[in-house]
Amino acid sequence: MNAIPFDNSYARLPGSMHVGVDPTPVSAPRLIKVNEPLARGLGIDPALLTAEVAVGNAIPAGASPLAQAYAGHQFGNFVPQLGDGRAILLGEVIDVTGKRRDIQLKGSGRTPFSRGGDGRAALGPVLREYLVSEAMHALGIPTTRALMAATTGERVHRDAALPGAVLTRVAASHIRVGTFQFFAARQDFEALKLLTGHVIDRHHPQAKGAENPALALLDAVMEAQASLVARWAQVGFIHGVMNTDNCSISGETIDYGPCAFMDAYDPGTVFSSIDTHGRYAYQNQAPIAQWNMARLAETLLDLINPGREEAIRIATERIGDFPAIYAKYWLAGFRKKIGLAGAEDGDLGLIQAMLDAMRLARADFTITFRILSNGGEPEALKDWLPGWRDRLARDPQTPEARRALMRSANPAYIPRNHLVEEMIAAAVERRDFAPFEAMLRVLMTPYGEQPGAERYAEAPAEPDGAYRTFCGT
Ligand code: AMP
Ligand code: MG
Repeated sequence: MNAIPFDNSYARLPGSMHVGVDPTPVSAPRLIKVNEPLARGLGIDPALLTAEVAVGNAIPAGASPLAQAYAGHQFGNFVPQLGDGRAILLGEVIDVTGKRRDIQLKGSGRTPFSRGGDGRAALGPVLREYLVSEAMHALGIPTTRALMAATTGERVHRDAALPGAVLTRVAASHIRVGTFQFFAARQDFEALKLLTGHVIDRHHPQAKGAENPALALLDAVMEAQASLVARWAQVGFIHGVMNTDNCSISGETIDYGPCAFMDAYDPGTVFSSIDTHGRYAYQNQAPIAQWNMARLAETLLDLINPGREEAIRIATERIGDFPAIYAKYWLAGFRKKIGLAGAEDGDLGLIQAMLDAMRLARADFTITFRILSNGGEPEALKDWLPGWRDRLARDPQTPEARRALMRSANPAYIPRNHLVEEMIAAAVERRDFAPFEAMLRVLMTPYGEQPGAERYAEAPAEPDGAYRTFCGT
């Protein structure tokens, strides 16, 4: 293994889709972490991943650094040009399994899309994204990955002066609903057609041979998003800022800003300080995903059917299917969480009754399901357990198989908010990265109890109802 084996397909798309821009060098780069297993999986020799590369001071041979153009609805309001304001795509590689992956620097300086921003990222949000995205991957949930994190030796100015850092992010692609919106808003149908073709080849090749490829693409993205958001629900994950520019066409979780995992179960939970109306609350994530899919459909209308009315009729019908698609994934996942291999009509009611009991008791979401998986009897579920046992009696499985099923669907370890904050404080205040390393290690195997890791499985002493997260800017 020598140079990074770049093969940059996005850079070969027309120039209206991106702007070539180099990272802005920084004074004193220092590596925090290189994700060596991920590097090897990408076919990259980890020795090439130096601090200079991690901050963008050195551009690896074969890279074609560029900022991608995209628009987006932010909290429901359309912004025709958003980014990339602080991310630079170095290029793409084909990984060892044959999949194309983007390699992107986030926080590496200004781009032509930066508007008033400095193009930089602070250390805290970089560590949060590194840790939470890798935890999501270990949980088995589609996500962008973290390849490297490095400090810049420079300060970024937010409310306070904070240490600057750069995250190297890996994704199936960084193409978002907002990428389609960028060209639709400009009525650039040539670009939309090329983008659609690129995305079908890259992410949803099954749409290629379809009678109506654009419609098949919409179906495929809806399926991927429904499946993804159901997976979030099953681990108590709240993305926090599900704007259309943070909604990936590949169906990966992207842009870990004000995200957080729920501790006590409450479907109304909101963490983000800027989400004053609770638009992106836990229980709204599926309807918002559907709303985002409608915004994608709008950009595809001309490709779906040349007759505008007919196109709208077809697309509206498809978007109307989203709740049922989501419900299918949601129910399949929650059936596993309560140990069911088969299906009965009453299962939805049974699961809902469990969640209702948890909400009333403010029971910890993760711990309650884990106790159940390990044969325990969560206090909050006393009245619910007999009905569950009756149902289990009609679901033939050995106790061992059921236990294994439940343990594989109910993690012991999630990135607990109070521990994420503790980890960030140690790094920002003392450049102590030991808590980051320790927490990352535990979160890499979330489905098996680890001796000595008990504190990572505990709920916070104080309920997290007042916990607030801030956008990673
Ligand atoms: P985010 O909240 O990270 O999804 O960012 C929303 C948009 O603002 C994206 O287009 C970002 O590229 C841009 N942005 C966020 N922070 C900065 C920054 N510090 N400098 C320039 N652009 C930024
Ligand atoms: Mg974003």
